[in-house]
Amino acid sequence: MPPNQRSKHLKPVRLLLALLVLAGAWMGFCCVVPPSMKHVKSPRRGRVYNNCVAIVYSKHYQMSMGGLERLHSFDIRKYARIYLKLNTAGLLRPEDVFVPEAVTEAEILLVHTRKFLMSLKDSPTVARYLEAPVVAPVPNALVDAAILNAFRYSTGGTILAGRLALKHGIAINIGGGYHHAKPDAGEGFCIYADMPIAIRVLQKDRLIRRAMVIDLDVHQGNGTAVCFAGDDSVFTFSMHQGDIYPIPKESSDLDIELQSGTDDRKFLKILRKGLGDAIDRARPDIVFLQAGCDTLKGDPLASLAMSLEGIVQRDAMVIDECVQRNLPVAMVLGGGYSKQAWEVQYASIERTLKKYGITGGRPPHPRRNPTGKEKLYTK
Ligand SMILES: [Zn+2]
Repeated sequence: MPPNQRSKHLKPVRLLLALLVLAGAWMGFCCVVPPSMKHVKSPRRGRVYNNCVAIVYSKHYQMSMGGLERLHSFDIRKYARIYLKLNTAGLLRPEDVFVPEAVTEAEILLVHTRKFLMSLKDSPTVARYLEAPVVAPVPNALVDAAILNAFRYSTGGTILAGRLALKHGIAINIGGGYHHAKPDAGEGFCIYADMPIAIRVLQKDRLIRRAMVIDLDVHQGNGTAVCFAGDDSVFTFSMHQGDIYPIPKESSDLDIELQSGTDDRKFLKILRKGLGDAIDRARPDIVFLQAGCDTLKGDPLASLAMSLEGIVQRDAMVIDECVQRNLPVAMVLGGGYSKQAWEVQYASIERTLKKYGITGGRPPHPRRNPTGKEKLYTK
């Protein structure tokens, strides 16, 4: 199609998409958002469970593109689903949550290039990073408000989780884990390299010298590996399926490749064997755990064969090891593309809260049924 005809053809498409995004944002903020989400005001101090576990979340993690976001394989509502179930199960109240600010440009520039920041002003480029062609024709101001803003808040959440882990021992960001983002480009649904940014912020503030990233998402943490290539102060450990994206792989300090079909028994055996030595080699002041649950059997983007219980045990193995070593650990959620993904990560967070955050393992608040608005919001 000649360029002038193409731009004529694109105009109504852009207008329609803009209207859809605005309608979605309006619905999201005015009609459907449940009151418990509105209470999550930004930024705000929360409550540390048992002086040990802190939960980080912001209502700004949600992306709203007028329903278009549902066309993507990433269930962006998984963060809200996990947050709301923690509320209805009596494990959490909105006032217990630590609410982050968005990451600042200066913080982003500790890892990313200015050229990369400029590239985000081009919607087709953002669409390529997110593997979401539907984003390409959307006006950039709306892409920034509806999508990039959410990534900035969840990256701020990973920084806050790092700070809280150093203070209290364990912190969980109900978001983050964008381990494919590189200094000069996003890829694989990832924009800002949240864990590297958090590590650089903590180093800059002289809160840590050394850090370790333990990446158990089914995909290799290729972006994290590139961000820390040649840097002896950060040890990157990635355990992932060998024959899927990203191909080719980058070099982490320790890479363990798994075969398609790896089940709980095999996965946990390999992790148990490698984890202690890896931490000994890393000598970190803090661990960032990327707990992607796309290792689950049936995940559409991979073919390992772990169960919900196996993934809970996997995360527990890392967190317990850190606690035994008195080593701060900040967990972020990463990938997970099956319908069950949010339930797996909920179960993992529930286990950590019940083991370390709550005396006797009993929920501290009454259980309740979700409200109609909450059900609607997380559908
Ligand atoms: Zn993944």
